[in-house]
Amino acid sequence: MKITVHRGAEEIGGNTIELQSGESRILLDYGAPLPKIDPETNKTVYPTPEQIVLNIPGLYEDGTKPLDGIVISHNHGDHFGGLIPKPVNPAVPVYMTAAMEELIRLVGRIPRDATELKATVKHYRKGVPFTVGAFKLTPYLMDHSAPEAFAFLIEAEGKRLVYTGDYRKHGNKRAAFQQFLEADLGPLDLLITEGTQAANLSGPSEHQVLRDIESLVSGREGTVYVMCSGQDLDVITSLSEIAQAHGRWLAVDGYIMMVLEILKSLVRRESGVELQIPGIGDAHIKVLETPATLKLSRRPEYAEIFARMKTHLVTWDWVRENHKKLIIPVRTWSQYWVGDNIRDLAGAVLVYSMWDGYKEEVSFHDTLEFFKSRGLPEFPVHASGHAYFSAVMELVENKKPRHIIPVHTEHPENFAWAFGRDRVHPLKNGGSYTL
Ligand SMILES: [Zn+2]
Repeated sequence: MKITVHRGAEEIGGNTIELQSGESRILLDYGAPLPKIDPETNKTVYPTPEQIVLNIPGLYEDGTKPLDGIVISHNHGDHFGGLIPKPVNPAVPVYMTAAMEELIRLVGRIPRDATELKATVKHYRKGVPFTVGAFKLTPYLMDHSAPEAFAFLIEAEGKRLVYTGDYRKHGNKRAAFQQFLEADLGPLDLLITEGTQAANLSGPSEHQVLRDIESLVSGREGTVYVMCSGQDLDVITSLSEIAQAHGRWLAVDGYIMMVLEILKSLVRRESGVELQIPGIGDAHIKVLETPATLKLSRRPEYAEIFARMKTHLVTWDWVRENHKKLIIPVRTWSQYWVGDNIRDLAGAVLVYSMWDGYKEEVSFHDTLEFFKSRGLPEFPVHASGHAYFSAVMELVENKKPRHIIPVHTEHPENFAWAFGRDRVHPLKNGGSYTL
């Protein structure tokens, strides 16, 4: 079996890993590179479509045999973003969960990032093995900052390997990491693992984030703005719990409410399980009439959820009257509706709960500057979406793979140091390893 890491071998993000067994070839993720900071100008440089698209034989309609499939581990752009700028060959099925497809389409329908997913999508489900070409894959739910993220046990030619996707053990789904450790995967020939945090042995957990934000909310007379991803359900769930415990309202936009409701209904439909996340029916949650809310409310595919959401909608007058008792998640561009409609920011604070690297990006910088220029103190409170190295070591110790390929990392040498040079095979982008 030949493993080629087209992208993500030497950097964080952009994962694109090809597996080949005989004539059969599949891709694990097809990610876009993350934006980079130009050290000269200190400005953010976004990858161009030409830089995102990879010319892998059989990926596009190029006259060669189509790939047998692309398997997406989770709906973060650095794992699926390659699908967006140029549609892949429709003869190549793209495997993801129903929730991932819905969320990718939802984000594409918010105008500022308007992007349409054009692909032959097939769905896989947690724990249910499926076959792509010569490969049998079994998806295992992992703890990550995406709503759903999966690792795969992959079997072919009598060999067994694991691709972790992105994972951690310190989030709200830490039980998933534990279950993955407890799962008997048999003897493993190869582990392809992410190593984003390979230079940090440990760090804060989501539980600590909750406690830190709670200490900022307690006794405060003013809005607590929290800059976070609208799909970071661990943070949104923590904010909901804090709001409820401290007699506050969590005021989200229609996009966040939509993410919560889409996930709840898909998980309920697929497994009969009621997800423990906030949503419609929680009296302490209000929906703001932001531009994203209005845009999504006009889409016929969301009419049913919007009809149910109606009782949670509040006017800007209500927001101004109650601003001392609100917790409001914000993102880039949110400063426009805050500035236009709320105005009074007395007593407010800003919590920054995202990856530090984003702060350099122009759009993030502008949003942070808005709050700063209005006198809001800023508190960085964040748990990484990725496993600290102690958790990577725990996984390796538990699964005892014969060989290891680190990906999604700037510190492959830490793997060689921790697990031995004979066992660890760091690659360059485009490089291959034969198992
Ligand atoms: Zn991710």
